[in-house]
Amino acid sequence: MIKQDYKPQNNQEFSRSSLKSSFPKWLTHPFLIIGMAVCILLLALVLSDSDKKSDAILVVEEVNNIVEQKKRYSTPVEINLELKNNTATQPQATPIAASPVLSVQDEWLSESVKKGDNLSLIFKRIGLTPQQVHQVITLDDNTQLLKRLKPGEVISYKLDDNNNLLALKYIINIQQTLYIDLLDEQLSSRIENKSIEYRTAYAQGKIDDSLFMAGKKAGLTDTQVMQLANIFDWDIDFILDIRKGDSFSMLYQEEYVEGEKIGNGAILAAEFINQGKRFSAVRYTDEKDNSSYYTPQGLSMRKAFLRAPLKFSYISSNFKPRRFHPILKRWKAHKGIDYRASTGTPIRAAGDGRVIASSYSKYNGKYVFIQHGQGIVTKYLHMSRRAVSKNKRVKQGQVIGYVGATGLAEAPHLHYEFLVNGVHRNPRTVKLPKAKPIDKAEKDRFLKTTKPWIEQLASRNQLLNNEETIAP
Ligand SMILES: [Zn+2]
Repeated sequence: MIKQDYKPQNNQEFSRSSLKSSFPKWLTHPFLIIGMAVCILLLALVLSDSDKKSDAILVVEEVNNIVEQKKRYSTPVEINLELKNNTATQPQATPIAASPVLSVQDEWLSESVKKGDNLSLIFKRIGLTPQQVHQVITLDDNTQLLKRLKPGEVISYKLDDNNNLLALKYIINIQQTLYIDLLDEQLSSRIENKSIEYRTAYAQGKIDDSLFMAGKKAGLTDTQVMQLANIFDWDIDFILDIRKGDSFSMLYQEEYVEGEKIGNGAILAAEFINQGKRFSAVRYTDEKDNSSYYTPQGLSMRKAFLRAPLKFSYISSNFKPRRFHPILKRWKAHKGIDYRASTGTPIRAAGDGRVIASSYSKYNGKYVFIQHGQGIVTKYLHMSRRAVSKNKRVKQGQVIGYVGATGLAEAPHLHYEFLVNGVHRNPRTVKLPKAKPIDKAEKDRFLKTTKPWIEQLASRNQLLNNEETIAP
């Protein structure tokens, strides 16, 4: 019934002038809208009962949604009343009211960029001359962007009756648009930047299978999971120490442009509970505009040594904590830790230092030793390839070689040793040099700016814990 009411309008040619004049005034009368809304509602109720999603009319979808929302909170009688009000006060939900957009005087025309296209071809298609192409392309630096058009992009333009270019619009990306305007018979260009709006989001997860899986379940991207792991890289060995039941939570930024999410921003605050031990971090941007992570007390998360000499992202996407077998026994047996990983996995220096050996032997295979400060030496064995030579200085995290099975190794793995004053120590339990506190001059500002994030994360976690306790 509703559909038929609308049909004549829908089939009409959507030319600007005819559309505007073809809507009789009575169609926008409030009683009629209310009447139609009731019909739509009845149809919506029928559709929602049969549990089928209708894509016939957008309006029905909308009303359906409202019905679904109201259902949770009120009785069906109340729904009727509320809905009438809703529809009556939101006439833009009907196709009739949506039309005024088309009645703009000087409409933008547009031309899509095709495969193998360029500005000359596009201008030719829309009736402009090579001189006009030249004029635009040589205008300034901004218009150089028009030399690199990609298929699917759109050039919008306005012409006068003599085919003079009045304006050109090119969407560079979701945030930037290039405009060329004719002002005082001179073309000029400008790039308009839409501002990014940052919203704060919360995510939390419990590890059941792998950190990546838990991240996915929590609605995080793999990149965000890696960012999270990077924050705690000095405290947690994400390859060997992660267990089922470990959990994390974080506040992070989401980036919006004109109400549309365009991506994720930085992690603002995060917590990781690893084998019952809680680690907290908060992001702070200092007065020189450097951002880094600190404990809530203001100690840097960065320390002299990374917990693991391999990046977890290369390994643990298929890592199953349940199949883990205790590493400590193995450590006692041969004074090192074995990281199973496929050949070619990059090995990183655990800390800043100097390469004191980069060589080959029958047992070690290809190996690298690094001398760090405070009498600490780290050793990396069985490499397939070495990436540093003797006496070279290396930075923490720098790739020094690649996992292999050279020397006495049955399968590709990294054998990693940590020595303090010549004595083998377990790098996973050894007391490492203390982290640096934040600069004294920044301390007050740090506490003031980071406190809200820490508190917000804590209260979100608290809320979740309460819910879990209440739930049966
Ligand atoms: Zn080993």
